[in-house]
Amino acid sequence: MDGRKIPEKGLVSEMIKKVVRGYKIIESQEELASLVQNELKKIDPKYTITPTRAKRIALEIKEIEVKAKTKKSVGMKKIEKCPICEANVEERKIKNLLNKEIVVGYKCTKCGYESDLEAFLPMKYIFIWKGEDVQLESKL
Ligand SMILES: [Zn+2]
Repeated sequence: MDGRKIPEKGLVSEMIKKVVRGYKIIESQEELASLVQNELKKIDPKYTITPTRAKRIALEIKEIEVKAKTKKSVGMKKIEKCPICEANVEERKIKNLLNKEIVVGYKCTKCGYESDLEAFLPMKYIFIWKGEDVQLESKL
């Protein structure tokens, strides 16, 4: 590759928390990735992060609520077994704008294979900070 470096997950996770905490709400995964990338570049200019990876990591951060910007529930082809290693897969569910849970992807419990809804359909997400310091600041 052309001198790009993939930052480790723990670091990306810290940066995602930092930017979402700062902005409270971020309206797309592209914006999230771009803001996180700015932070990462302060550490190493070669670090790059894709919107899909930023979103996947954000989905695992409990202080951040990720919502799908869709009203319809989306039909994603159901996967029972990992196509790589045939282990069980976990569904990734988030809420849409009507607070209905929808499946947005699958993750293998064994080999790390991940599948995203965007592979089938363009999808917009919102990232909302729900950690404690938002409540403290909103009382000011
Ligand atoms: Zn697998």
